Amino acid sequence: EQIARLRLERGEFGDIADPERFLADRMAAFRRASTETTEEMLLDGRLIEIRRLRSPDGMLVSLYLDATERRRAEQEKAAAAALIKTTFDHMSDGLTALDNKGNLLNWNTRFMDLFAIQNDTIEVGMSLRDVISTALSETDADALRFALDRLSGAAGQLKADNALDTEFVRLSQDRWIQVSCSSMADRGMVITYTDISDRERTSEALRRSEERYALAAAGANDGLWDWNIEEDHLYTSPRWRDMLGLGNDPITEKPKEWFDRVNPKDIEELQMDIDAHLEGRTDHLQSRFRIMHADGVYIWALARAIAVRDNNGKAVRLTGSLTDITERKRTEEKLIRDALYDTVTGLPNRALFLDRIEQERRRHSDANEDKYAVLLLDLDRFKVINDSLGHDLGDALLIKVARRLENVLKAGDSIARLTADEFGVLLTGIKSEDEALETVHWLQSDLAAAFQIGDQEIFTSACIGIATPSKGFSDAEEMLRAADIAMYKAKAKGQSSSAIFDSQMQTRAITQMQLENDLRRAVDRDEIEMYYQPIISFDTGEIAGVEALARWRHPDRGTVVPADFIPLAEDTGLINAIGTTALRLACRQLKVWDDTLGSKAPKTMSVNLSGRQLQSPDMVREIELILAREGIDGSQLKLEVTESMIMMNPEITSRILMDLKELGVALSIDDFGTGYSSLSYLHRFPFDTLKIDRSFVVSMDEKKENMEIIRSIVLLAHSLGMDIIAEGVESERHLRRLKALNCEYGQGFFFATPQPADKLSEMLRAEKRWDIPSGD
Ligand code: C2E
Ligand code: CA
Ligand code: CA
Repeated sequence: EQIARLRLERGEFGDIADPERFLADRMAAFRRASTETTEEMLLDGRLIEIRRLRSPDGMLVSLYLDATERRRAEQEKAAAAALIKTTFDHMSDGLTALDNKGNLLNWNTRFMDLFAIQNDTIEVGMSLRDVISTALSETDADALRFALDRLSGAAGQLKADNALDTEFVRLSQDRWIQVSCSSMADRGMVITYTDISDRERTSEALRRSEERYALAAAGANDGLWDWNIEEDHLYTSPRWRDMLGLGNDPITEKPKEWFDRVNPKDIEELQMDIDAHLEGRTDHLQSRFRIMHADGVYIWALARAIAVRDNNGKAVRLTGSLTDITERKRTEEKLIRDALYDTVTGLPNRALFLDRIEQERRRHSDANEDKYAVLLLDLDRFKVINDSLGHDLGDALLIKVARRLENVLKAGDSIARLTADEFGVLLTGIKSEDEALETVHWLQSDLAAAFQIGDQEIFTSACIGIATPSKGFSDAEEMLRAADIAMYKAKAKGQSSSAIFDSQMQTRAITQMQLENDLRRAVDRDEIEMYYQPIISFDTGEIAGVEALARWRHPDRGTVVPADFIPLAEDTGLINAIGTTALRLACRQLKVWDDTLGSKAPKTMSVNLSGRQLQSPDMVREIELILAREGIDGSQLKLEVTESMIMMNPEITSRILMDLKELGVALSIDDFGTGYSSLSYLHRFPFDTLKIDRSFVVSMDEKKENMEIIRSIVLLAHSLGMDIIAEGVESERHLRRLKALNCEYGQGFFFATPQPADKLSEMLRAEKRWDIPSGD
């Protein structure tokens, strides 16, 4: 009663007209209450819960409980749940969270869409298996449950380490779902569902074309064919058709029409050979026969093939090559040609081309007049064309380009194929450099028209470098090299450009070589120096660690930043020496800080690794030696690698990373978000930290969506047990947002730029702290 009076006086019940009456009623109500009642009141900022109970003998008991903490925890939990829900619903994968009995804790809308689950058939606490059984057809439900059984089995065994495991499920209508399970110790598990139907279909198609490609590699000069027996459909490669002089004809895919071309004298034997192999009596098909060329003449051909069989051993496809063996008789002739001519285009090769330049040079004793010119023509994007269309089509294109170039040139001019996609042209009978330029113009506009290759139209263009005798050359080789330098200059201008060699180009080419030479010496001359950028804990505002960033103190150029020498170092292989130096210097500096600053020294030193270092088998041992020599413990070192480095060679890299972990070294994934950004493969590598790339942090200012992306990265990385470092924190705004997203560390110009060692020592000694605002 006293308490009720107190609360009444404080006005907690609002304005009461007759306080005494109110109190009397309230007390009577309490005494009447047969069940438990609960009320809350505020007391000095604390939340007090009052629970009233009636004991069996009719006595009224009141319990006063301090519920402040519990209420706060409940609110936090609700906020966290809401956060997770938004993230869940933003994901492109279906997702369910289960407790350790397999009952639903949470799920997202994508999950419901994937399996057409109705709103009223799903509820928290329901068993996932039951939900699946109601929503899916019997067979689909069986398939999915089977996968889930295996996953939870695996997760059960690997509970402790955030195990992630994957199963592939095929549902009706050829739908493929990838199901991944991530177990979270004894808190249950998260299962994601990705619709990979398209991906599966693509890889099926890919596998087929790869089989063909393997055959192509086996006989680059052979025609290829692939007879789908079930569909009675014959795929033939362009070279196959070229062999028969049918390159431009409408292409038939009916096997019968091809068999009709075989000489009647040979057809029976061919049929027998084919049957023998299809019935499994021979381990491959090999048959010689005559087949009609477009010009009406029979050529001799050799067909080799192997059947692809289904599970019952029945042949469903016959895939193989066709070789023109008429040519073999002319082998001798060909040997001679090969020494001087390119086999694909039939054009002179480099040796013959140099010889022709030399002859032309001798003919013109006055080198000041530009009576001839050497052009070097390099096709733009040829590698892309070749890689995407295959070598057969690539070759076909080269042949057509050669023919077209020949058409533009006059009698007396020469054209040659120098390397894969480089042609040389010797222009003769001209009067000036301008005339050479004019021809270059014609060549380029002629190349611009589409090429008909098989049934495709392909466009290409070329950059052309020009060398004329008046620039002074002492031999043909030198002139061709000059054209090459000019061609690179043209490439730098963009596709379909040209450039005339001048002596300044020579100088620039030399400068580049000079820089390379300088870099070669930089390590020996101790010109590589490390700068250090602090990594700040968002929790304490203190320096948690530092990242070592290389600088090159060039004797003439001053400080050179990594962007201007790391790529060069990678091209030339110097990166291994530079990388080792960087590691040694960084470890040495950390040791100095340990010795002079004690507990004020940074906890970890992060050092960047280059892709090349990561491929080197000796690297692990080298790092072990550096740690021992500099007196640093493995746990103080953190190595940063990027996604693209890993994806270059996942197998080898994964092994090296495991070995590094064994040394106790921590691993960060650097620039996350710029490469594959695939969280699904992260669990396969032992990373401790994920560094969100600067571009993401910057983009937070632009779109709200980008915040959501970071939010998902953070959540999922956390579930894999990784810490987050945000890179490129440049403003307080960034900081607030990142903090709100639960990032634990940050680095960037807002805190400090990379500093020389002594500057950073000052910061450490002064125990510099930054104020960390609360997140918003
Ligand atoms: P990184 O590993 O991503 O290093 C971070 C880069 O971002 C550094 O550039 C740093 O100065 C810069 N940075 C830091 N905070 C901010 C910010 O708030 N705003 C902006 N705009 N930039 C910021 P730096 O020192 O020029 O290094 C560039 C890259 O060169 C590094 O990128 C790293 O990939 C590579 N690199 C540096 N040192 C080494 C090394 O010793 N070995 C190898 N292999 N690579 C290195
Ligand atoms: Ca880095
Ligand atoms: Ca980075």
